[in-house]
Amino acid sequence: MTANEQLFDAAQKHIPGGVNSPVRAFGSVGGTPRFFKKGEGAYVWDADGQRYIDYVGSWGPLILGHAHPQVLDAVIAAARDGLSFGAPTQREIELADLLCEMLPSLEQVRLVSSGTEATMSAIRLARGFTGRDKLVKFEGCYHGHADSLLVKAGSGLLTFANPSSAGVPAAVAADTIVLPYNDVAALEALFATEGDKIAAIIVEPVAGNMNLVRPSPAFVTAMRALTERHGAVLIYDEVMTGFRVGLQCAQGLHGITPDLTCLGKVVGGGMPLAAFGGRADIMGKLAPLGPVYQAGTLSGNPVAVAAGLATLQAIRQPGFFDTLGAKTAALAEGLSTAARNAGVAFSAQSVGGMFGVYFSATPPQSFADVMASDRARFNAFFHAMLAEGVYLAPSAFEAGFVSSAHSDADIAATVAAAARVFAA
Ligand code: PMP
Repeated sequence: MTANEQLFDAAQKHIPGGVNSPVRAFGSVGGTPRFFKKGEGAYVWDADGQRYIDYVGSWGPLILGHAHPQVLDAVIAAARDGLSFGAPTQREIELADLLCEMLPSLEQVRLVSSGTEATMSAIRLARGFTGRDKLVKFEGCYHGHADSLLVKAGSGLLTFANPSSAGVPAAVAADTIVLPYNDVAALEALFATEGDKIAAIIVEPVAGNMNLVRPSPAFVTAMRALTERHGAVLIYDEVMTGFRVGLQCAQGLHGITPDLTCLGKVVGGGMPLAAFGGRADIMGKLAPLGPVYQAGTLSGNPVAVAAGLATLQAIRQPGFFDTLGAKTAALAEGLSTAARNAGVAFSAQSVGGMFGVYFSATPPQSFADVMASDRARFNAFFHAMLAEGVYLAPSAFEAGFVSSAHSDADIAATVAAAARVFAA
């Protein structure tokens, strides 16, 4: 048995499925999950000492790569001053100020510890603000694992072919209306009849939990116009896209100002930190100012805040996203060319530091398109790339991530590996 196999066996004794988050179990691709013992820059090493070029980056947070020296220094310095106080600290103000400066739609922001908390809290706030219950989400979008959001969701739920979770009360799910992504007509039809009952639309403004799906300009424009006209709250869930697709997130790319934005992943630099924020009149409804309750023992944790601050300061350096975007685009183009040369039906695309690879001739535009891609081929590709020392997300339904630590040589090595795999 390999060390990974031994650990996976041992893990299953006291941890359900041997993992603390489902997709880690390699459930859809099969085989043994890799147990990592070290990460540095673009690389991770597993329990057997095998090195991989990592395109998961802890599912998005590690935009500077693993164990970035500036982030580590900030974390260590903060930790020496105490791990948690459950009381306000000065660095929280710095992070809130920086977030509001970097993202113009944020007038106020609250820090939480996970993306799930951010979306769950934003929805409660939207409902409290509007006095309405109905929530609109889109098929294949994942917004964390709060009850009202586990309806036709993406990510691990798709990986395990069960897009709606057991244990969600029917009454809760009944207030969640699910529409197809990029379907403007469906959105208009819904608002025409239910518009005055809808508290909020929540959307991944570039979907990354059914692989990567770009929104059409008409779709993002319609969401903004309809919510504005009907007094509903537009929530951009930028947990994945925030400071990942560009310095002003997906909303900056689209020229849309949402009412509320959820952030996570990159804003915590690899530590448990997320945030939600937006219009001051809406945020003012939050406790202790208003009637909408939301809290957290570890919210604004000083060590996590230090990691987030160091990460945001690094990505603000001039040219950061130009370089990252060009590298990620080069990866997508290189993979596409390699597949074309081998006659494999494949496509790839990127947005900023995020990419999608598809075993279909063109990139998908909806959940239905994603489901039509060849999943068996993805699984074979995943394992062959793993054997080549390239760690991709272990599911055909996840986006990939490039960090500033990935060198041109890493990208070239990845493309060369893919060319061998496609040829075989
Ligand atoms: N929203 C989006 C768009 C996400 O991608 C994720 C996590 N992948 C979440 C919310 C939930 O975040 P967390 O896993 O930190 O709870």
